[in-house]
Amino acid sequence: MLQRKFDEVVKHHFPNSMDAKDTSIHYLGKMQLEHKIDISKVLMATSVCSDDINVPSTTFFNVLFGPFIMGGLGGIPFSGQTGMTAFAHHIPDGGSAFIFYGPHIGITLDGELGKMYRPRQEETGNSCGALMLALSRFHDSSYTPVLNEDDYQQMRLETSLLPYKEEILKSDNPQKAITEATFEVIDKKVHEYVKTCKDEFHVDTVTLLGGIIINTDYGLDDYFDARNFEVIDLKKL
Ligand SMILES: [Zn+2]
Repeated sequence: MLQRKFDEVVKHHFPNSMDAKDTSIHYLGKMQLEHKIDISKVLMATSVCSDDINVPSTTFFNVLFGPFIMGGLGGIPFSGQTGMTAFAHHIPDGGSAFIFYGPHIGITLDGELGKMYRPRQEETGNSCGALMLALSRFHDSSYTPVLNEDDYQQMRLETSLLPYKEEILKSDNPQKAITEATFEVIDKKVHEYVKTCKDEFHVDTVTLLGGIIINTDYGLDDYFDARNFEVIDLKKL
C-alpha cells in the first residue's frame, strides 16, 4: 500500500513522526488522562502555513472548538499579540487553550524533501512554497529582504530566517534545515506571545503542541514530527 511505503520514507527523515490521526489521538489522550484537561471545553489555535494542503492535518483536532488562525506564510504567528489576546478571550468558561503550530514540508515517494504532488497536478510542486522561495533567494548572496506592505508576510518570514542563513546553506539538506529553522522561529514567537499576553487568559493552562507537518501525496495521511508538547501553568509564568 502507498501509505505504508510513505511511512518508510517519512520515518527515514523523521524517525519520531506519527501520522496525523495518531498524533491527535496521542496528544488529546495525554491532555485528558495525564493533565486532566476537559477536552469538551478546549479552544484550539493554529499557527501553521496558509497553504491549503495543511487543512486536513488540522481537522484531525476537529473535536476541539476553533481553530483561531494565528499563522500566515511559513506558519509564523502573524496575528501577533492582538491575535493571542483575542484567542485568550474566546476560551470557554472553565476551559483550556491548545495551540498547534509549526512549519510544513512536502515529501515524495522518492524521498525528496520540499516537494510534493498536489491534487490533480502532474508535476511536483514546492512545499512549503514560502520556505522554498526564501531558500532560492538565500542562494543569491547579494539578496536582502526588504519590508514591503504588499508582501509583508514573505519579507518578515525571510527576515526572521536571516540569522540561520549560513547554517541552512551549509547543511546537507537545506530544504530540511530551513524548515527546522522556521520551527525555532515559530516556537519562540508562540512562547513569547503566551507570556506577554498571559494576563488576558481567564483559564489556568495553555497546551502547546509544536512540530513539523510532513505533507505526503494528496489523499494520504500527513505526518507530524512533534518537537514540543507542553502544558503551561499560566500562574507560574
Ligand atoms: Zn507553506
